[in-house]
Amino acid sequence: MLISEWADGNRYLSSAASSEPGKWQTSRTPYLKEIMDCMTSRPPYHKIRRIVIMKGHQVGYTEGVLMNFLGYTISHQPAPTMMVGPSEKNIKKIAQQKLDPMIHSSPVVRKNISTYSRSTTRNTIIHKDFPGGFLVLCGATIASDLAATSVKNLLLDEVDRFPLDTEGEGSPIELAIGRTAAYNRRKIIMGSTPVDEETSVINKWFEAGDKRYYFVPCPHCGYYQKLIIENLIFDKENIDLGVTYKCSHCAKEIHESSKTLMLEAGEWRATATEASETIRSYHLNSLYSPVGFLSWADVAKAKIKSETDDVFEKTFQNLYLGLPSTQAADDFPSAGLLFKKGGTYPEGEVPTFNGKPISFLLAGVDVQDNRIEILVTGWHRKICFVIEHIVLWGNTNNDAHQAPWIDLTDLLEKKYPTKGVDLGITQMAIDSGYIPHKVFAWHKSLKNPKIVRVIRGVHSIDAIISFPKLMEVSVYSGKKSKRGNRYFDLNTHYLKREVYKRLLIDSEEITESSILFPEKMSREFYEQLCAERMVLADSADPMDRTGVRRYKWRAVRERNEILDTMVYNLGCWYGCNANRYSQSDERWDKFVNIKGRFI
Ligand SMILES: [Zn+2]
Repeated sequence: MLISEWADGNRYLSSAASSEPGKWQTSRTPYLKEIMDCMTSRPPYHKIRRIVIMKGHQVGYTEGVLMNFLGYTISHQPAPTMMVGPSEKNIKKIAQQKLDPMIHSSPVVRKNISTYSRSTTRNTIIHKDFPGGFLVLCGATIASDLAATSVKNLLLDEVDRFPLDTEGEGSPIELAIGRTAAYNRRKIIMGSTPVDEETSVINKWFEAGDKRYYFVPCPHCGYYQKLIIENLIFDKENIDLGVTYKCSHCAKEIHESSKTLMLEAGEWRATATEASETIRSYHLNSLYSPVGFLSWADVAKAKIKSETDDVFEKTFQNLYLGLPSTQAADDFPSAGLLFKKGGTYPEGEVPTFNGKPISFLLAGVDVQDNRIEILVTGWHRKICFVIEHIVLWGNTNNDAHQAPWIDLTDLLEKKYPTKGVDLGITQMAIDSGYIPHKVFAWHKSLKNPKIVRVIRGVHSIDAIISFPKLMEVSVYSGKKSKRGNRYFDLNTHYLKREVYKRLLIDSEEITESSILFPEKMSREFYEQLCAERMVLADSADPMDRTGVRRYKWRAVRERNEILDTMVYNLGCWYGCNANRYSQSDERWDKFVNIKGRFI
């Protein structure tokens, strides 16, 4: 029996897991039939070892591919089976929201599941036993779980969100695949929404396979074609007028009401000229989502949003088109290019701009266990001049009157010579995230604490910098501060994007948002500045119907203090309200004079 036949005869969707409860119908998502069937060991599918599915969302993958395969395995073709998700949390969610409802609502599956529960010292693995086999579910984050057992079937879900390395043991994908080595007739099923082209595993394996696309016939001329976003027709200003599809052969408009018939008559066609017969690879975008799931209008709306929102553009590419995004290469500054471009003034000296010395200095401070790193910047309106990078070495657990803290106090007194008056730091932002009680203790020791802003980086607030907040640091020091300690939340997500946008400005001239550097800064300096990328947050739910996915920043190298301190400088600039005075030279001069009086 093929999996699609088994599913049509035996599989029920529960109301808990599905928006369309009742008997499973392969005809609802006909493109899943071949994918399901090639997971069986019967001819003509017996030579296929690896099945790769690169997909957009709302195509029915979790129920149609993963759950049907597991139901078939448990009740019809038993074998040792493992399913791995990006994290323990994620796999538990799938077990609760998809697997358990599948088992309970399909009688032939339920009767095979052993009620005997294994005793295990770890609760990070989920076990299900059935006659002739077992099912193990675990997250890709725990190496010992991945290496725990030998299996014939391996399902790797959302591989593009797996960690690159699991606890120093190497790639979790390779670790898991290693578990199938004892079985000649193993089946490895790898599915994912792709993420970054730079690191995408699913894209790499899709390319290695026979690259199948689902071709559907035009209802007018009968020409078979794959559905592509470029052929969607809609009026941007008035989407409610309707969204249709233009046949790439006869150019006639196709209404979405024809989609059901087109999907039914569709077929998978391999497009790779040379491909291994052991790897099948499938691509599915959200335009194929059946009527009632995600409509062409939904896709068009998302497309419109993606044109004005650069974070959503990535989401759209990944989640709707099922394609990896190339933003990593295009939309992040290159350390190599910045290093090559270099700077024009000596480090530690205040440069002049339009014949006048820069007269407003800020500093951003990052605290590590063995050092404090500071980036000093000068500003003319929005233009940022990096003045110097300072590292104060010493154990930061020391008291405020000892190094490196005392050196930081001294820095607040430092005067930078200019052709006019000597210049000090107007305002400093220091990150309290690492050891808050030490930062607050140092802050309290200052003669003029007002020139230092204690900040805490956060990912999502509605502002760039929050109103002052109070923190009781009892959890860190054991002592309770009576009045609390004043600090500000800083929207580092927004500020990193802004720093990167400014660094990407490709101009020989100084623009109003330029960031300029001193000469002879090291390659390492620029590497640290360009050290982060935006990636999908691990907690994002792959089954989210709304299509909202959260992005977070991930360091692509170990050290990134330069980026952090740059972000604190820019946050400090906003914190001083400098943006409100940056429209003209006159306003800016006034602002600098007022600020200067407080020092
Ligand atoms: Zn046509």
